[in-house]
This record gives sequence, C-alpha cells and structure tokens, in this order.
Amino acid sequence: MSDVAGDHAAMVRCVRGRGAGFDERLVAALLDGTAGLRLVQPLTWREGPTCVYAIAALASSSGRALDLRAQVCEVSWSVSILDRVSGTRLVSLCGTRGHLNRRDGRRWPGAHLHVWTAEYGDNDARAVSWRVPDAVSRETYRDVVEGFCEALLITRDAKYGWTEPPQETPATTTDGSVT
Ligand SMILES: [Zn+2]
Repeated sequence: MSDVAGDHAAMVRCVRGRGAGFDERLVAALLDGTAGLRLVQPLTWREGPTCVYAIAALASSSGRALDLRAQVCEVSWSVSILDRVSGTRLVSLCGTRGHLNRRDGRRWPGAHLHVWTAEYGDNDARAVSWRVPDAVSRETYRDVVEGFCEALLITRDAKYGWTEPPQETPATTTDGSVT
C-alpha cells in the first residue's frame, strides 16, 4: 500500500528545502554522522558586545557550505552547525536558560539540542543524547565543543587546534544560572 500522505509530506519538505538550499535529509546526515564532517581550521575567537565566538569552516561530503560556530555569552553558550549561505542553525547544542518550544509549549531548563525542521525551523528543542558538563565555563567549554564534535562524528584534522576564549566569561551552569 502506498503512503500517499507520506509521499506528499516528503514532497513538501523537498520543495521547501530546495528554496532554502538545504533540507531535513541533510540535517539527518549531520545528526547520524554520515555527512562526512571535518573541522579543518583552528577556532579563532572574536569578541562581540556580550559574547565571544569562533567560526570555523566544516568540510563535508554534502556539497553544502557549513560552518561550526562556538559561542560563550554572559548567561548562555552554544555550539552549532550553521548553513553558511543563510546563517541558519541546522544543529545546535544550546545552554540558553528557559528555552520554550513553540510546538508543544515544553520548557527546557537546561542544555538542549536544536534540530532544524522544515516545519519549525531552528526553534524546536530536544534532549541531548550525550553528556554535557554540569557546569559550563571558560575552563570546561573545550569539553563542550569537542564533545559535540565527537557525538556528531565530526573529525578534527591536523589543521584544527583548540584555543581558549580570549577573556574571562562568567561561568554558567547547564541551566543557564550564573555561578
Ligand atoms: Zn534553545
């Protein structure tokens, strides 16, 4: 029996994805490690008004230009895979306090994962399937970034190198509270 509704949903996703240049198949490949992601640059930190952040190119087998963005702010932090053209967060590990899902009204008090979907964009959170340090600070942020890479099978080649964020950033716990 053919799944007409499923076929239609797949077609809608495909059409939407074509407009944006990416789709849920790419996001699924990012999550299951089959996109062949490689971090081929050192993280170079820059200072913004309230955050320090680093962006490094990700090589991939997807044919899509992708970046890794690491960010530490006063009361939050994140590590994300971005679509370079649109700046869209495709997958993001997020330590922002009190995230509220539009879809179901669920509130996430601690670290959570954002996974882009055609229907909800980058605002739908879900549980993280790997361990994130209880207290995230400048000192533990390397573990957060490299844990993200390991969980998503992002290879770090010889050109990758860790550098510490450039200045003191307030320590935050995974629930976003300042310690
Ligand atoms: Zn969030």
